[in-house]
Amino acid sequence: MVLVLVGLVVLVAPAKPPAATAVETTRPRAVSRPVLAYGSRGAAVRQAQSLLSRHGYRVPVTGFYGTLTARQVRRFQVAHGIRSTGKVGPLTWRKLLAGVGGRAAAQPAPAAPPAAASAPAPAGSAGVVYLTFDDGPAPAWTPRVLELLARYRARATFFVLGRSAAAHPELVRQEFVAGHGVGNHTWSHRRLTGLRGAQLAAEVSATSAAIQRITGAPVRCLRPPFAAVDAASADRVRALGLRLVLWDVDPDDWLRPGARTIAGRVLGRVRSGDVVLMHDGGGDRSQTMAALEQVLATLSARGFRFDALCRG
Ligand SMILES: [Zn+2]
Repeated sequence: MVLVLVGLVVLVAPAKPPAATAVETTRPRAVSRPVLAYGSRGAAVRQAQSLLSRHGYRVPVTGFYGTLTARQVRRFQVAHGIRSTGKVGPLTWRKLLAGVGGRAAAQPAPAAPPAAASAPAPAGSAGVVYLTFDDGPAPAWTPRVLELLARYRARATFFVLGRSAAAHPELVRQEFVAGHGVGNHTWSHRRLTGLRGAQLAAEVSATSAAIQRITGAPVRCLRPPFAAVDAASADRVRALGLRLVLWDVDPDDWLRPGARTIAGRVLGRVRSGDVVLMHDGGGDRSQTMAALEQVLATLSARGFRFDALCRG
């Protein structure tokens, strides 16, 4: 949990030069950088994300190479006359490092250890996973999510839209009473970076107020729609008393690639402490429902427990 929170601080912090700058300055040497692609993670990804941001291609520094990073890499490649692969190979690294002080880029740390083995294990022995559901509540899907979570004694977090919470307060109440976290996802799924101060405050505050009227508890955190957040909007959100929560694993369930694919992406990438993004609103979520059952069953068998965020 502590790691998650530290990670979130990093996500919204302005890009800083890596700590190893001084070492690199006094002892210059050639460093080899790994090819990064969708699903890559670790220090090298964080470095690439930080470099992208310094070139003006904003992306949260999560250390996970998801769709947002791939999209920004493609834009960067097009702008620099590199073939648009969405992967960071040697040429893209060179262009990323150019013009921002190549020596400021430290060598990435070794890759993280592989995910836990899939052998059955006692509950909680493999660590904790934070499942999160955005864009609800929705009468067609949220009750099914709640039912599945209850069956596996799993707690999760729902980032609800204010307008949907106001329309279906009983679903938000059920989420909260079952021990799940309920967070703010703005009133109408607005991109925070495109809002002026008063508009942002209205989107966010009205949603927190609607949730609190239903649950009786203050709202602790917000997930920005489209992961769109910059330093200014992050400051405004924090000034409203909310923590920003992004994610580590994004299976792109909203694109409906098939339940097996969604579950496979989560199960192939998730590690203890990770926040997983899925959706219980915004369209036909039947694939997400089927994938969720597989995810809960498999991760339970691997010994993971499922906990809530944003409850205090
Ligand atoms: Zn959303």
